[in-house]
Amino acid sequence: SNFTELGLIPPLLARLTELEYQQPTPIQAQAIPSVLAGRDLIAGANTGSGKTATFALPMLQQLYLQQQGKTSVATNKGNYVAGLVLVPTRELATQVANSIKSYAAHFNGAIKTVAVFGGVSVNAQMQALRGGSDIVVATPGRLLDLISSNAIKLDKVSTLVLDEADRMLGLGFTEELSQLLALMPAKKQTLLFSATFPLQVQSLTQSLLTNPVEIQV
Ligand code: AMP
Repeated sequence: SNFTELGLIPPLLARLTELEYQQPTPIQAQAIPSVLAGRDLIAGANTGSGKTATFALPMLQQLYLQQQGKTSVATNKGNYVAGLVLVPTRELATQVANSIKSYAAHFNGAIKTVAVFGGVSVNAQMQALRGGSDIVVATPGRLLDLISSNAIKLDKVSTLVLDEADRMLGLGFTEELSQLLALMPAKKQTLLFSATFPLQVQSLTQSLLTNPVEIQV
């Protein structure tokens, strides 16, 4: 199996060649076609499995193709975001956002990705969100702060990714997470990644995912 057979488009394939990704990892091979087809996903995967590309490549492709299909050039994104990736830590937020930006290198700036996380001043992040963004990678607490100050709105989220869901709940983000989920449309694609599946994560997947593809690597 190679990346072409997974259904990815040329600007992404060209980037993967540059990055010297020769073969999809097992999780990528198993999950990417289903995610491109719009299915929900629950994946048991550790760091190093290639999980970031598993959600980032299909999400980028879907948003890019949607944008190419739009007739108006003056698309006002407002403060709405279409792709939301929730992560437990600021380190992971930075790392995931950098990966997404790297994969989008041949999109000619069509897809804007912003990372928001706590522990640093909110001003630069508000500035970065100004004019709208396509993908936001966020820790839950800071995202709620930015919603309170109207810097971002979740009403139009079409793809939600929960990365390292077990760590997120383990760090006590359960309440923040349920507040955030209440602000998103019910109808959206949801992708959940977790290394372990304690009861808290199991009940989250039950309430959040619809007929998901299940993959364990
Ligand atoms: P992750 O599990 O998402 O943290 O990815 C672990 C590392 O593997 C990252 O440095 C990725 O750039 C790299 N990687 C992901 N997918 C592939 C692939 N198919 N071939 C080679 N390297 C990859």
